[in-house]
Order: sequence, then C-alpha cells, then structure tokens
Amino acid sequence: MRARFEAMFGGVVRLLRRRSRKTTSDKRALVHEILSIQVLSAALVGSMAIGGLYWGGQWILQDNYSRWAQQWTEQLNELGSPLYLVDDHEARISLDSFVDRYPEIDQVIYYAKDGSVLHTVDYPAEIDSVDDLSSGELQEAIDVIGDKSPYLMSGGFLDPRQFEIIAPVWVESIPDDGLFGFDAASTDDSVEVELLGFVKMKLDFVMFHDRLLSNIRFAVVLLAVFLFLFALYGRHALRKALVSISELQIPIQELAKGNLNVKFEPAQHREISNIVEALETTASALSERDAQLQKLANHDSLTGLFNRRRFNEELRKEVMNVMRKDHTSALFFIDLDQFKYINDACGHAAGDRLIRKVADELQRSVRQNDVIARFGGDEFAILVRDVDIVGAKTSAETILTNMRRMAHIEGEEIFHVHCSIGVTIMAGNNLHHDELVNQADIACREAKSAGRNRMRIFSHAEGEDEGGKSEVSWMTNLREALDEDKFEIRFQPINNISTGETTHHELLIRLRAEDGSFISPDAFLPSAVRFGLMNEIDFWMIRHAAIAYAEYSRPGSGLKFSINLSANAFENDDLTGYVEEVFEEYSVQASDIVFEITESLAVRRPLQVDQQIATLRDLGCQFALDDFGTGYSSFSYLQKLQFDYIKIDGTFVQDLPNNPVDQKMIKLIAEVGREAGMQTIAEYVRDVESLELLGELGVDMAQGFFIGRPTKAPKNKSTPISLRSRRQQLSRKNSQSS
Ligand code: GH3
Ligand code: MG
Repeated sequence: MRARFEAMFGGVVRLLRRRSRKTTSDKRALVHEILSIQVLSAALVGSMAIGGLYWGGQWILQDNYSRWAQQWTEQLNELGSPLYLVDDHEARISLDSFVDRYPEIDQVIYYAKDGSVLHTVDYPAEIDSVDDLSSGELQEAIDVIGDKSPYLMSGGFLDPRQFEIIAPVWVESIPDDGLFGFDAASTDDSVEVELLGFVKMKLDFVMFHDRLLSNIRFAVVLLAVFLFLFALYGRHALRKALVSISELQIPIQELAKGNLNVKFEPAQHREISNIVEALETTASALSERDAQLQKLANHDSLTGLFNRRRFNEELRKEVMNVMRKDHTSALFFIDLDQFKYINDACGHAAGDRLIRKVADELQRSVRQNDVIARFGGDEFAILVRDVDIVGAKTSAETILTNMRRMAHIEGEEIFHVHCSIGVTIMAGNNLHHDELVNQADIACREAKSAGRNRMRIFSHAEGEDEGGKSEVSWMTNLREALDEDKFEIRFQPINNISTGETTHHELLIRLRAEDGSFISPDAFLPSAVRFGLMNEIDFWMIRHAAIAYAEYSRPGSGLKFSINLSANAFENDDLTGYVEEVFEEYSVQASDIVFEITESLAVRRPLQVDQQIATLRDLGCQFALDDFGTGYSSFSYLQKLQFDYIKIDGTFVQDLPNNPVDQKMIKLIAEVGREAGMQTIAEYVRDVESLELLGELGVDMAQGFFIGRPTKAPKNKSTPISLRSRRQQLSRKNSQSS
C-alpha cells in the first residue's frame, strides 16, 4: 500500500519537500529586514503623529469654534435685543457690521418668542424662505433657559466645519416689574431677565479647516520625504554597520567546508570583532587538532615513524612509480629477534626504550628517501626506493650489521638485539601492495626459521612452496604427525671430556616425511610454535622419552636422557603432574632425566615457571641451560637459577681452534660454571682438535658429530682424551680440593 502510494505520489512529495527546503539565496537579507522594520515603525509613528495632529487640531478648533460661537451668541443677544422692542434701524446696521466682521458667521436669524422668524441679518431677501423654529426646536431652546450655558448647538460632529447654535434672547431688568424672569448666568438675585425671542446662528469654518488640512497634507509630504531619506540613509548606515557580518559569510562557509586557513577581515565593531576573534581561535584550534589527528593517523606514537596505514599509502605510490618508470624497489619486513625477553627481564618500559633505539638505528641505516615504518610490536617495514636485488641485499646487510653492533644498556644489563629481515623486490610482476607486504613477511619468517639474525629474499617459487602454502601444510602435517605418531626420537651422546665416556644422551626429535626421509626440527618447530602445537610436541617427547628409557635402561647402565622443553611446555599447568604420571608409568628414575631449557626462557621465567622447575627438581630431575651465550651474555642470572649444566652455544665451538675470542669466552663460561657448581657442555664438537681445546679450557662435557651422531637407539661411545687435557683437569681438581 505504502509502496503504491510512494510510486504514485513520490515525485510530488519530493518536489514539495524540495520547495519547503529554502536555499540560502531564497532567504531574506538581514539589511532589508532591519531596514523594513525601521521604516515601518517610523511610518507608524509618523502616521500616528499626523493623525494625532489632525484630530488634536480639529479638537482645538472645535473647542475654539464653540467658544467663539458662545461669545458671538452673547454679543448677538445683546445686539439683537433692540429688535424686539423697536424696529431699530441702527441695531440692524450694528448687527450687519458685526456679522461682516466675522466671515465664519454664515447666517443669523432672530425669532420671536413663538418661534416665528423675526429678522435675518444680511439676508433680507431670504426671510420668506427661512423657516420658523419647529416646535421641537422651540421647546429645546426654551428648555435650556436657566442652564449655565443657555444655548443649543447642533451639527459639527460629522462635519465640524459647519454647525448651528440657537440661544434665547433676553433683557435684564429690576425684579419688581413682575415679568417672567429667570436667572440666566448670574447668581445675582437682584437682576431679572426677560425673554425676548431666540437667535439662530449658522457657522461655517471651512476656511480654517481647509487651512488645517493643507498644513496636514504638507506634514504628510514632509513625513514621506523624511521617511524616504531616512530609509536611504538607514540602508547605507546599516549596510556599513553590517558589512563586517556580510564579510564573515564567505570565510565561515569556507570554514564549514573544512578549509582552516581562511582569513578573517578585522571588524570595526566590538561585538563582531569578538566573533571574529572567537572564529579565528576556533579555526586555529581546529587546525592544531587536525594536525595532531593527522599525526596520530599517520605516525606510530612510540617511535614517531610512519604507521602501517601511512606506509601502505607510500607503498601504493611506489607501486605506481615502479610501473611508470620501469625500475625496481624493495620492501623489507623486519622483526626483532627474541624481543620479548627484554620486556620480561626489564619491563615493558625498557622494551619501549629499546624499540625507540631500534627505530633510530634503522633510520640511520637507510637513505633519506627510503620510507620506514613501525607496523606494531617489534615489526618494522622499510621501503627502499630504486634498488635492484643487489642493492636491496647490501641495504639489508647494512641494517643487520648495524643492529649487531648496537648495544642497549638497561641498568646493569647489556642487551644486543638482532633482527630478521624479509625482502621482496617490487617489480612489474608483483604489484599489489598487500601482496608485497605478505611476501616480505613470509621471507622474514623464513629468516627466523633459518636461525634469525639474517635476511631472506622472497622468491615466488619458494614462497608458494614453503611460504604461504607451506605454513598451512606444516600445520596439517604436524597435527597428523601428533595424531598418527609420525615423530621419531634420535639419541645423541654427550661425553665427559676427561673420561671420554658417555654420560647421557640428548633426545632429538625428527619428523618422518611422506617419502620416508626425515625432517629436522629447524624446519618444523617454528611452525609448531606459531600454530600452538609446541606444547603437545613437548608432551609427546616426555612420554616417548619415558618409553625409550623403559626400553633401553638396564640396571647399572647409567642411561641418562636430556630432554628439551620449550617455553610452551611451561605454559601448561599440567606439566609437572604429567611428568610425574609418565615417569611412574614407565618407572623412570627422575634423577636420570635432565630437562634443557633455553637461555631466553631462563631469563624471563615467570613465577609459574620457577615453581614448575622447583617441583621437577624436587622429583629429582636436573636442569640444563641450553644455547648459553647467544642472547644475553649475562652471568648475573646464573646465580639466581639452579642449573646442573650449562650448554655452551654451538656458535662458540664451530671454529674454536681458529678463534681466540671464542676460546676466551668458553674459558670464562667454564670458570663461571665451575664457580656456580654447574657442569659445562660444549655443542657442535666436530673434531679432535676442538675436543682437546675444550678440555684445556675447562669444559666438562662435549657433544657433536665427533662425539657421536644422533642414532635411533642410545649408544655409548668413548672418545679419545689427550694426556694434556687429563693432566690439566687433574691439576684443576687438585687445586680446587686444596
Ligand atoms: P621472535 O624472534 O620470534 O620474533 O621472538 P620475539 O620475542 O621477538 O616475539 P614476537 O616477535 O613474536 O613478539 C613481539 C613481542 O614484542 C610481543 C610483545 O611482548 C612485545 N611487544 C609488542 N608490542 C610492544 C610494545 O609496544 N612495547 C614493548 N615493550 N613490547 C611490545
Ligand atoms: Mg620478534
């Protein structure tokens, strides 16, 4: 129904609505509005004044007329009384001359007592045509006798210019003459008056009136002229007064459109000047706020660098540039390595300070026209303009080198923060900015998986196989491996350097691929962490280590296992309960198990981790600190934590015979470990020379291909020991015991 109505009348309704909405040009101008009010009120006041003048003048005239009429009546009374006594010619002459003196007196008629015409002044020819007083008139004239004003006035209301007056004519005499008498105007009882007749006077004041009217007409014309001049002047004066308001219209319209750089003309009047000032303040406050909002919208508040939104704009522009100018540029995606630890070790504020320092360092590392942004967290992006793959590599290497050199001091701790860089080259074949960021991100994750502190360049082939797609397929593979038990354990021996005997085995995880080959943990563990599967993998390892222990441990075999536990394992509150349960199930001697945790977890170790470690230690388990020396190079926390072993990171061992710095470092770690009551284990031992050296430097145990490769079952392997190192070891032991 409604739809039908709208279909039929919709057009009309819209038209009416449009009409009712007035546009600015339809509206009345302020000047005209004020002016018309003024002119109208002036016209009203003027008309009232003229009307008042007219009515007032008329009233005054009328009052004067009646006074004159009264006066003249009295004189006519006096002058006419001889007419009743004798036909006095002289009296007629004096009456005539009296009437002649007053042109306003139109006609004078004397009547006898009975109302018959007795005499007319100046109109003798008309005497016959003059009517006697009617009986009504006579009676009325008689009735006024004795009144204070003994006369009758008629006419004059509708036309005040012409009226009649009838008055009795009398003579005054001594009272004892016994005649009809009355007390006319006097209170004097000794005087008596005798009624002689009546006199009628017709008066015509047309002349006065005409003069009054012509004066009023003149006043009206004068008023009209005055009003016209007033309107002209008023228009001019108002326009002048309102010019500042009119001038405000355009700047205010501009302001409303969002143009905050409008100029306001200075106003002459105080009120408008105040308005202008307020508008200027508003405009400048708005533009300040605008600038702030712009800054917030485009910049990262912590570092002041561009944020992701603004960076994407720059990236889009560069994509267009690359297309137009046919050159290449590069996009770097940078993620700091192990950044969480500084937050955990020194607090969020310290982390923020480091992020700011990194931002400065990155800015120093790139060219002026490269665009750098913080994407959030510890992620940065850099648009390196106008470079090819070689230039991009050089630029990324510069950043890596500068970051490696950078040291950040928080209190007594020194932090070295490294970063992983993913690079993608912007060429004609990959030109969507979102896609570019994705590519750089994938390359960055590859750099992380490959061991961090390095760069990777995105390649389409790899990206599709190992990047975006592989992430998802890793997830599926890992899930499947957990559900279908596709992981396998390898056992790598750790030998005591001075005895050459295997003390325990580190358990390493492998994933069996479809083709039967094995995938190393470096390839799948980062994905396991990302997809939240690490915790399950750790628990899988604990159970299968227990199963292996049950399988291979014999009384007196001295079999000891070293199991890696990730930070994710400690996030699970069931960890200790699970270990206890599994150990019980497979009769595992807790003292034969060493749990390896990474340096980073040891540093940040939240309270809950401390408690879990304590519980496991109470069970009898031992703990080893893995990868020591890589992240923090700080010995201070070694004392706070109770570890049984320190595993020196393989990077110090790889090239040990040729690297005196690494040798010094290892010697120092071994000494500190000894002081703290911990045994030291060196990884990556690949030759006898390194093994000899490690023994000389005071390291207790060794692990690596030279000691023994990972095998399917735990195998004890003896290693050669030089007499030199054994001698040194013995002398160290002796000096310690003495
Ligand atoms: P990875 O080497 O794998 O990158 O490890 P990571 O420790 O750097 O961890 P990741 O990059 O996954 O996470 C970055 C961490 O940075 C997460 C969060 O604790 C921290 N973080 C994120 N934003 C801020 C921030 O604004 N200030 C500080 N202080 N820390 C932040
Ligand atoms: Mg990071």
